[in-house]
Amino acid sequence: MLKENLQSVEKTIQAACDKSSRTRSDVTLIAVSKTKPVEMLQEIYDAGVRDFGENKVQEICEKYDKLPNDIRWHMIGHLQRNKVKYIIDKVCMIHSVDSYRLAEEINIQAKKHQLVMPVLLEINIAKEQTKFGVTKEDAILLAEEMAHLTNLKVEGLMAVAPYVENAEDNRKYFQEIRQLAVDIQHKNIDNIDMHVLSIGMTGDYAVAIEEGASMVRVGTGIFGSRNYGRK
Ligand SMILES: *Cc1c(COP(=O)(O)O)cnc(C)c1O
Repeated sequence: MLKENLQSVEKTIQAACDKSSRTRSDVTLIAVSKTKPVEMLQEIYDAGVRDFGENKVQEICEKYDKLPNDIRWHMIGHLQRNKVKYIIDKVCMIHSVDSYRLAEEINIQAKKHQLVMPVLLEINIAKEQTKFGVTKEDAILLAEEMAHLTNLKVEGLMAVAPYVENAEDNRKYFQEIRQLAVDIQHKNIDNIDMHVLSIGMTGDYAVAIEEGASMVRVGTGIFGSRNYGRK
């Protein structure tokens, strides 16, 4: 069943690439596996997926030990500074940098491990109270502040668009994100190369791809709905 979900997602990605004259290899599909058991991740791994997204430090650490070591783990959730040390050597990218203090801690831990951590700035694109991320204005300031943190590399922007019935309603936000990346790139800040746009989730990833997404984060579309056990 999961394999069929994946095939259907792949079809949609390919169609969005065709529609916007983009190449499939320009878009990375991140399978968002939060709350799902390792057996399900293994099934998707066996079907060829290597990029997985998680939003909790403890869950990454547990799954990391149980699954093949060529998986690229993406930290996509809110990250507390005191937990950076647990994942710094496990993830390939941190999508959720939204403060200088967090960036500074990532830099310190990356230095300890002698690595350069790729990060994205999380943008609260619709200024929703319930969401993390910085405003567009603050993103430029944050990028400038981060220029001297040489053990991390700002590679682009991430956003969680509002939940909408009609994906078209989010197109304007994706366009804004792409423009913001262009604006920041034009500032020629040290250590910053805006080539990644991590936008698009199950409800809107086709539109996101049409608007330039280089990473789409699909959870429900691959693994089915999540049960947080609170019902
Ligand atoms: C859960 C989550 C996703 C995936 O959401 P779906 O709607 O299930 O595809 C993507 N990005 C982030 C940051 C998430 O927390």
